[in-house]
Amino acid sequence: MMRICIYCESKYIVKFGRRKTKERGRIQRYQCKECHGTFCDDEGFKWKHKSVKTILDALELFVIGNTLRFISQFLGIAKETVFRWFLEYARLLDKYVERFRQNFTDMLHMDELFLKMCGTFYYVWASICRDTRFATMILSRDRTKKYAYQLLNESPSPLEVTTDGAFAYGGVIRRRFGHWWYRHNYHRCANFEDKKNNNLIERLNNTIRSLTHKRRGYRGIVTGRWELRFLEIYYNFIRRHMTIGMTPAEKAGLIEYYGCKNEESRLRYLIKQATQDAYSYLTLLINRICRQSPRVHRTLDL
Ligand SMILES: [Zn+2]
Repeated sequence: MMRICIYCESKYIVKFGRRKTKERGRIQRYQCKECHGTFCDDEGFKWKHKSVKTILDALELFVIGNTLRFISQFLGIAKETVFRWFLEYARLLDKYVERFRQNFTDMLHMDELFLKMCGTFYYVWASICRDTRFATMILSRDRTKKYAYQLLNESPSPLEVTTDGAFAYGGVIRRRFGHWWYRHNYHRCANFEDKKNNNLIERLNNTIRSLTHKRRGYRGIVTGRWELRFLEIYYNFIRRHMTIGMTPAEKAGLIEYYGCKNEESRLRYLIKQATQDAYSYLTLLINRICRQSPRVHRTLDL
């Protein structure tokens, strides 16, 4: 990463002692040789009044399904603060991990599950790759083909597809890949005893259920989508998968964590990379050339 001055975007930077902070220890300070301004690296926890460990603990407790009230009592912070952190880091990571998408897979398993919350039904459309366990999730209010098509488009491009007995997928897959492909590479297992079963996605459904059960689901479609997106990032990039012994993103060769042994260090590494990327020279250059508003994730725009 190329470090630039945060005031004048100059590249002539020298080290300039260390700064003593209350929550983050001693951090390196830099000086610009052109405008003589001094600044520090932003690792994603600047201007926070709580320690880095508290923030990471709150995020992790939230993503594994604990209620805001439990987290606020457990860590001794206001529950609005926890939710604000969650939204801030979910947006940051969403934009960053968008580039690490798996493109191809040998077998894709697809399914949907419904969660009843506050009197309304929510459907979670999920797909998982057999080789890397890379998951894609979409939240919707109704069960229509539109979302099956969207899920297929956002998932890695498969050589074969397996779904359960639902008829919604057949037409969608035929429309997407053509009739010949549909006849040869699409497996629809209606019975549990089928040779090619859909157990991988049923296991993922159980994981999603267990991680959303304590909070009794989502309070609305907008925050629900952010929560599910954060869960997807957690599943793909942070949580160590028991079967493959690493995160799905590492298995797919999308990202490498240097010396990150546990979930907390992976989350911290990802936040640091995302923050530094948002302020990097290349991002600023692209923003200046394109003059575009920041891109929102495809499933999240309403
Ligand atoms: Zn400068």
